Amino acid sequence: MAREQQVPSLVIRLICESVIDNLGPKSLHLLFTQTGLQRYYDGGELPPDDESPSATIDELSTIFTMSFQIFGDKGMKPILLRAGRDMLHHFRAHNKALAALAGTAFTVLPTDTKIKLVLSRAAKIGEELLHSPHRTYDTPEGYFVEITNSPYCVGITSDHGVCYFPVGFYSEALRWATGQTYAVTETACVAAGAQVCRFHITHQEQP
Ligand SMILES: [Zn+2]
Repeated sequence: MAREQQVPSLVIRLICESVIDNLGPKSLHLLFTQTGLQRYYDGGELPPDDESPSATIDELSTIFTMSFQIFGDKGMKPILLRAGRDMLHHFRAHNKALAALAGTAFTVLPTDTKIKLVLSRAAKIGEELLHSPHRTYDTPEGYFVEITNSPYCVGITSDHGVCYFPVGFYSEALRWATGQTYAVTETACVAAGAQVCRFHITHQEQP
């Protein structure tokens, strides 16, 4: 079934834009040639900046896997962090449940409530985009987002978490909702042998 599930075009678009800005259009061309997915980027025309159905989940995973093979972890980290942040910017403007968090009623809520609300609503977006279960919860150690079947790290092996796209996405969601910077760390990742990908947000805000 996963083969037929499609991701919105803008997800591919944001990754493309970030690759171009960091490494140039030739690198993007190379990436799409190597993945055999030239139909999403034929050397000039970027995929549309909207939520129309685009690549399948499997194809998205192929783009991530191949990009790590070609550009390496160090090359891809800033690209994916930025694409994740940009995706939050898009949904902040286009998703009603998220946009509602900018209202005056939200600004007076305690920070703890703001964090829980923005994480659960952002995770809901992620779940709908990627057709993979997302769970948010909190413990005395902090707040957590858990992704089952994360498409960001399929086929990648590493000694640390490599799901940088969601790290950028949730970091920006927290910054936007609270006005503070919180560290988002992927403490468990399927790429590093875990069963699920787990992101930890510390209670204490960063300076
Ligand atoms: Zn992961």
